[in-house]
Amino acid sequence: MNGGIAPFLTKLGERDVPSYTTEPEDDRVETLKEKELHELRESSLSQPDSAVQERGDMLEVSCHCGACQLRIAPPAYTDSSEGFHVPRGDRNKYYARLCCCRSCRLTLGFTLQPWTYIPPEQIFTVNKEPVLFGVKTKDTVQIEKLKHYQSSEFVLRSFCTDCGATMFYQSFERPLWIDVSVGVLRSKAGNVLAGEWLDWERNEVAKRDEAVDEELVKAWLRR
Ligand SMILES: [Zn+2]
Ligand SMILES: [Zn+2]
Repeated sequence: MNGGIAPFLTKLGERDVPSYTTEPEDDRVETLKEKELHELRESSLSQPDSAVQERGDMLEVSCHCGACQLRIAPPAYTDSSEGFHVPRGDRNKYYARLCCCRSCRLTLGFTLQPWTYIPPEQIFTVNKEPVLFGVKTKDTVQIEKLKHYQSSEFVLRSFCTDCGATMFYQSFERPLWIDVSVGVLRSKAGNVLAGEWLDWERNEVAKRDEAVDEELVKAWLRR
């Protein structure tokens, strides 16, 4: 594990926030040096070519308890693919960014929610059936423990009824991509930010005007 977003959040406002190699109360605890933090950040976001080759044929997605699982096929973007959700850099990856919107905060319980934006035709069940999206989602049972909460007229949020994990979000107004929660992606390399699959946006976050943790947002964004 490489610490996920934590190595990016080491300077909040004027405060320096130490990062530890283990639990702070552990006797063997050591504080990570800036060089080590830098390496963690780099390895989270951009993996060497070998890691990309070894990332697997499909990206595995699983909630904490394992009752809700998905498989995501590699991107099929071409040079002519367009849209904010198409990576500007590596088109073998999916675009990912943090959302600061009020609706994500109140339904998920945290102020920054990481999403990756996946065309629906790339998302499958473990039995390789295409996952059904759109207004019919609520009336169809493809994954027994996956349930759906309609947070507004056009938005459906899907989660595991056993462990509560957020799986994905869809807006019926923009059916060309599904927001899959980054926290349930399972990188083969144990990379929390799954940099071998994801192209992270660090120039902006979604809905910054609704952010309540501006220090965290500033720490994450590229300066
Ligand atoms: Zn679960
Ligand atoms: Zn949001």
